[in-house]
Amino acid sequence: MRITFNMQNQKDVTDFWEGETCEYCGGTIVAKRVTRHRKIKGSYILLENVPAGVCTECGTHYFSANVLQRIEETVRGRKPAQREEIISIYAF
Ligand SMILES: [Zn+2]
Repeated sequence: MRITFNMQNQKDVTDFWEGETCEYCGGTIVAKRVTRHRKIKGSYILLENVPAGVCTECGTHYFSANVLQRIEETVRGRKPAQREEIISIYAF
């Protein structure tokens, strides 16, 4: 079971990463919406449209403190998920 949270209503902070550079490679960071997955109590959950800063060089994702806090609040079950999906798992 995969539970999906959509953070589309999260306030846009597109200028938050302006002028920031990647701490790993020095690349430019641009604001994007990304999907994050977490495993909580044995269940996978998916967070869609999470505002993030993404390095254009190495792809490292950065999250602002308030977005991280919002993620924690969301996954702790204060909000119902938007939808649930069945996922296929293949073991090698
Ligand atoms: Zn980088």
